[in-house]
Amino acid sequence: MIKIAVLGAGVNGITCALKIKDKYPNFDVTIFSEKFTPDTTGDGSGGLWYPYLCGNTTQEQLTKWGGETYAFLHDLWYQGGKHISVMPMYELYRQKKELQRPLWADLVFGYRELDKTQLDYLSRMHSINYAAGRTFTTFIIQAPKLIEYLYIRYKRLKGKVVNAKLASLSDPILHNFQVVINCTGLSARDIVPDNRVFSIRGQIARVKAPWLNYTIVDEDSGHYIIPNDAICVLGGTHQANDYRTEIDDSNTKFILDGCRQMIPGLKVIENTL
Ligand SMILES: Cc1cc2nc3c(=O)[nH]c(=O)nc-3n(C[C@H](O)[C@H](O)[C@H](O)COP(=O)(O)OP(=O)(O)OC[C@H]3O[C@@H](n4cnc5c(N)ncnc54)[C@H](O)[C@@H]3O)c2cc1C
Repeated sequence: MIKIAVLGAGVNGITCALKIKDKYPNFDVTIFSEKFTPDTTGDGSGGLWYPYLCGNTTQEQLTKWGGETYAFLHDLWYQGGKHISVMPMYELYRQKKELQRPLWADLVFGYRELDKTQLDYLSRMHSINYAAGRTFTTFIIQAPKLIEYLYIRYKRLKGKVVNAKLASLSDPILHNFQVVINCTGLSARDIVPDNRVFSIRGQIARVKAPWLNYTIVDEDSGHYIIPNDAICVLGGTHQANDYRTEIDDSNTKFILDGCRQMIPGLKVIENTL
């Protein structure tokens, strides 16, 4: 029997393990992980499908991987929600900018560049002068709920789970496995080891805004507003090579001030990460 080890129980590890069990029910799959939901990176994320801060990832890779994820979320949503919202998103720029049509534009619903009338409307709505932008329909997950749902599906298929922290890919515990899939996220820096992997620190705030039914990413200020079916995620920061995990009050102020300038009604704080 083929024995497969998946390292990490974040959204990537759980989804890889589930996909394998779905396709090859007889394979013996084990997830080894130090932490589980709600303590993984994805649990504190915005949950938004949107190719953002993707570094040198090529358009072809973004389109292949992003397209598969978009279709996966679409299927789950179509089957009955599963903690996934579907809504328009606006990517907005304060500076004039020639926007290239990305390859993935053909995979998402309703992609188009915003014209002057639409930009004027959004500028009036959000008290900021926007000079360029685009819109499309996207999916937003309530991350802890979706990860838990995928985990339960994996367990129902008799997927195995071991709570362990592995020191390296040569750990003796892995010797009996023909395939090892590394989904340890940032820890790949140590476990591989691979020093090309580095952190981009993100901080968010959460507010109640059930009346909001679209997403905004202000690319020039870095602020974003991402409502899902339970809470609304406000962001954000993206600080390269910053490994702090505690809340930085000045970052919280930056996030709340910037998002409230766009939508003053974002008041009731749920909590911050
Ligand atoms: C503030 C913020 C907002 C974000 N918003 C979005 C968004 O809106 N949309 C989006 O697509 N992405 C977003 N992201 C990025 C997204 O959250 C991550 O890309 C994603 O969660 C990574 O998932 P992962 O499974 O690869 O890694 P992780 O969630 O980091 O999981 C790694 C797993 O490996 C385990 N592990 C690590 N080391 C070991 C070891 N040595 N032995 C055993 N187990 C180990 C951990 O315990 C964990 O279970 C955001 C990130 C941040 C910080």
